[in-house]
Amino acid sequence: MSRKYRIVIAHEECKGCRRCIPACPKNLIAVGGELNKQGYFSVHAEHPEDCIGCGSCYLQCPEPGAITIYQTEE
Ligand code: SF4
Ligand code: SF4
Repeated sequence: MSRKYRIVIAHEECKGCRRCIPACPKNLIAVGGELNKQGYFSVHAEHPEDCIGCGSCYLQCPEPGAITIYQTEE
């Protein structure tokens, strides 16, 4: 069975810097429409199940805890 991954972006931790958007080779990340409690427009993953687990978005993100990549199947 092939490995599968899922990205989860913590709405309240993201500061909307958008560094993760061009980092994703699958173009999964987009700007969201809602302000979080810190006053930032967070980003969100549009098809989180299409994540290939490359870690590129995670490496670009300056906010600890904003991006988590889960391996969902092996
Ligand atoms: S881990 Fe890679 S494929 Fe998955 S959302 Fe981040 S940059 Fe995109
Ligand atoms: S890099 Fe991190 S803080 Fe910046 S927009 Fe993406 S998830 Fe939010």
